[in-house]
Amino acid sequence: MPQPCVLVTGSTHGIGYGIAEAFARQGARLVINSHLADNGALAKLSALTECHFIQADLSTAAGAVGLVRQAREKLGRLDTLVNNAGTFLDTPFDDLTEELFDRTFDLNVKAYVFASQEFVRGLAPGQEGASIILVGSTNSVMAERHSVAYDASKGAVLMMVRSLAVSLAGRGVRVNGLGPGIVETPLTKRGLDVPGVRKSLNAQIPFGRIGQPEDVGGAAVFLASPAAGYITGQMLFVDGGILAIQKTWEPPV
Ligand code: NAD
Repeated sequence: MPQPCVLVTGSTHGIGYGIAEAFARQGARLVINSHLADNGALAKLSALTECHFIQADLSTAAGAVGLVRQAREKLGRLDTLVNNAGTFLDTPFDDLTEELFDRTFDLNVKAYVFASQEFVRGLAPGQEGASIILVGSTNSVMAERHSVAYDASKGAVLMMVRSLAVSLAGRGVRVNGLGPGIVETPLTKRGLDVPGVRKSLNAQIPFGRIGQPEDVGGAAVFLASPAAGYITGQMLFVDGGILAIQKTWEPPV
C-alpha cells in the first residue's frame, strides 16, 4: 500500500496542525494550508515526512476548489481530505450581523462542501480507500449562549457528514466527522485567558483538563485508515467526556 496522500485545510497551527502532525508521524505525504503565509509549520512537518504548503483563502468556493486541485498536483493524487479550517466570529446575539454570519458559513460550511466536491471529482477510476473528514465540534450537537452562527454552522457540518456519506457510499468514499470539545488553540486563547475560565472549564470536563491539538490528531488518522474501513457517516467526538456528563449532583467546590 503506497503512503496515503492527505490534504489538511487550515493546518499551520491549532487543531489542523495537530491533525497534520499525526498524519506526518504515520508517514503520510502531506499538503498543509492557511490563508496566511507559512509560520514555520512546513519546516517542522517536513522533518517528519514529505510536506507542501499552499497558501489559499477558503472563504470562497473557488478558493476551496483551487486548493484541492493544487494539492492533487503536488502529490499526484489525494486519498484523504480533512476539512478543518474554521472560525468563530459570534458576538452577543443582538449584535450578530449578516457579514459575520456569512463569513462564518462561507468558511465553516461552504468551503467544506466545494472542497469535498472537487476532491471526489479528482479521484482516479477505481481508486480505493478515499475518505473525507469534516471537523465539526461538540457544538454540532450542543449549544452555547451567543454562539448562534457558529452553532448553526457546526450543526450543518454534522448533517453534511451524513449527507455526503450516503451520497458517496456507492463510490466507496467514506465520510466522517470529528467533534473536538474545548481545545487550546489560537482560536480559543483569548477566551481561555479570561481570569477563572481555565479553572472553571477544567472542573467541568470529566478528564479534568482542556484538550490539546495533539489529542485530536490520532482520531483523524484512525478515521482515514483501513481500520475504519466500514465506518461512514459518523461523528467521533474528542472531548474528554464533555458530551457524556449529566448535570452534577455534587455540591460546587
Ligand atoms: P485556529 O484559528 O487556531 O486555526 C484555524 C486554522 O485555519 C489556521 O491554520 C488558519 O490559518 C486557518 N484559516 C483561518 N481562516 C482561513 C481561511 N479563510 N482560509 C484558509 N485557512 C484559514 O482554529 P482551531 O481552534 O484550530 O479550529 C480548527 C477547527 O476546529 C475549526 O473548524 C473549529 O471550528 C474546530 N473546533 C475548534 C475547537 C477548539 O476548542 N479550538 C473546538 C471544536 C471545534
